[in-house]
Amino acid sequence: MNKPNIVILGAGYGGMMTTVKLQKSLGSNEANITLVNMNDYHYQTTWLHENAAGTLHHDRTRIQINSVIDINKVNFIKDKVISVKPEEKLVKMENNQLHYDILVIGLGFEAATFGIPGLAENAFTIGDINRARLIREHIDYNFALYHNENTKKQARLNIVVGGGGFTGVEFLGELADRIPELCKEYDIDKNLVRIINIEGSPTILPGFDPQLVEYAMNSLESRGVEFITGALLKECTATSVVYEKNGKEVEIPTLTTVWAAGVRANSIIEKSGFQNNRGKIEVQADMRTPEYSDVFVIGDCALIMNEESGKPYPPTAQIAIQQSDIVAHNVKALIHNTKMETFEPNILGTVASLGSNDAIGVILNNQKLLGWKATVMKKIIDNRYLWKLGGFGLLMKKGKFNIFY
Ligand SMILES: Cc1cc2nc3c(=O)[nH]c(=O)nc-3n(C[C@H](O)[C@H](O)[C@H](O)COP(=O)(O)OP(=O)(O)OC[C@H]3O[C@@H](n4cnc5c(N)ncnc54)[C@H](O)[C@@H]3O)c2cc1C
Repeated sequence: MNKPNIVILGAGYGGMMTTVKLQKSLGSNEANITLVNMNDYHYQTTWLHENAAGTLHHDRTRIQINSVIDINKVNFIKDKVISVKPEEKLVKMENNQLHYDILVIGLGFEAATFGIPGLAENAFTIGDINRARLIREHIDYNFALYHNENTKKQARLNIVVGGGGFTGVEFLGELADRIPELCKEYDIDKNLVRIINIEGSPTILPGFDPQLVEYAMNSLESRGVEFITGALLKECTATSVVYEKNGKEVEIPTLTTVWAAGVRANSIIEKSGFQNNRGKIEVQADMRTPEYSDVFVIGDCALIMNEESGKPYPPTAQIAIQQSDIVAHNVKALIHNTKMETFEPNILGTVASLGSNDAIGVILNNQKLLGWKATVMKKIIDNRYLWKLGGFGLLMKKGKFNIFY
């Protein structure tokens, strides 16, 4: 192949790490590398719940792409991808189009609302920096308005979070930390505020260790979170949600519903006509699509089956980062016609934060962690990623060092 054009779509965990690895492993005479992303920054998706609650400013979460990539080796294009035409080896963007020889798709996820009436129109989602910032501003605005209306509206102080999975629980933890501050700021009695979680399963964090689930519920309840489990969200309007539990429908007045109960792969996959399994591309072990030998898929757009459980691996940053090793290696192998490697997830553990100084987790060999130990572990995981992405400089600039509260 004559100096091929490698095009990487999406500067998320998978795309950024693949780019950084390729810029190190390929000489500028070996390939042209182009990274396309809709913003000129990369963000840590796993911190967005903090930005949404207002406990961490979004500038801590975003990282300028040009501060991490080597602009002499990588051509960065800020544009929005509209579709991929794999037969023509073309990427269509809002302002341009690109020809590729090798493509890496790392366009991440979108919220899945499962057709629940009103959810797509009226609920907020924690999907990117803009959406997270909007949630923070919206909550602040409603608190600010509360005392400025003749008729006080309780709906301004009711915050409903749909879904008690990892994202929902992490967001609840941050909200529980933030609400007392907001109440002080806007002279609101803390007892008036309701943070309500609606979860369809009989418990939050379904499938997680029961002892840790109980710990998480106690921690969050002690800080004012109400759980309504075994309840299905039926409808969301601009001023309320309706859920059904034990055959009864209940309405909660709220101006703030945050939907955290489901994600799907970026719809560009489906729109581009790739063979897919519920929107994701079921990749081969070398991370390529079964249809196109020049297209790799990474992160939340890729589906990998867990042979043991017979279910797909859940979409995580952990897996996206691990996949970047294989994708970067295999892109180079494709250029040089050498042996490709296969991807095997190595799940090192799972840690969920419950606010700034509480967390739960399971790490190596099913070791349970809770409280400050889990908090420390969470920050180590976050800092390790920064180190891997941008070395000591980035770690110092963006790392979380408030480890011992
Ligand atoms: C609040 C929250 C907490 C989480 N916590 C954890 C955790 O603790 N541990 C864990 O392992 N995982 C966690 N996850 C899941 C994890 O964040 C995702 O699995 C991970 O971000 C997927 O990485 P990715 O590279 O596929 O995509 P992303 O990191 O989502 O990146 C996709 C990139 O593509 C860009 N993009 C999207 N569409 C376009 C377009 N049309 N044109 C151009 N660019 C585009 C986006 O701007 C973004 O930069 C969490 C997720 C959320 C929302």
